Amino acid sequence: MNQVTWDYHGERGPEMWGHLCPEFEIADTGREQSPIDIQQDQLQKIAKEPLAFHYIKDTFTIKRIENSVHAFPTDQTQGVTYKGTFYKLFAFHAHIPSEHLLNGKEKPIEWHFVHENENQEKLVIGVWMEFGEAMNAVLQELAEDFNKVFPDFEQQRTIQLSVEDFLPKERAYYHYMGSLTTPPTLENLTWIVLKEPATITPADHATFEKIIGGTVRPVQPLHGRTVVESE
Ligand SMILES: [Zn+2]
Repeated sequence: MNQVTWDYHGERGPEMWGHLCPEFEIADTGREQSPIDIQQDQLQKIAKEPLAFHYIKDTFTIKRIENSVHAFPTDQTQGVTYKGTFYKLFAFHAHIPSEHLLNGKEKPIEWHFVHENENQEKLVIGVWMEFGEAMNAVLQELAEDFNKVFPDFEQQRTIQLSVEDFLPKERAYYHYMGSLTTPPTLENLTWIVLKEPATITPADHATFEKIIGGTVRPVQPLHGRTVVESE
């Protein structure tokens, strides 16, 4: 694990990531960095390419990593199939407010479900949430877990959930090629951001915000990349 510390503000904030160590240089020199501002009038429409979700109810381990809290599945057979390739679910976390913008505007929270195929190529499913009714009881329980583990790197908790608990009904998406949004911001990462936001209550959001508020890398230049939208 890389021992160089980084942050979301100050001397080790996003503008400085590329200068903290050689491994992080791509934050400055990369041409396919994330997140981006998704502009709806500049999208290329495509027929929906096969994207299938294979998630199950599972025990997830919650722990603090660097500047956020991450959830790791127990079951190693779940994930997504995209264009015929299976990507195993590795972990998930969230950012407040959203990292990807839509027409220059942020959403209250964005979840990142990080997947990897057998060639170690990553695919991240991004899910925005807007304020609304609770979709289920999972977010409230998870917010409490975030609260408990954040102060102590040694602390772990477990929770029963399915990634399906976080997803909207409609699964149309935006897609582009980008990078991780935390150092080292490695590229060749397939981004799938669901078009329809799911919902979170203001109360649950406030609990998460106390822990991961401001965990956002500013949007990066497109450098000619194409962003597509599925039907
Ligand atoms: Zn993320």
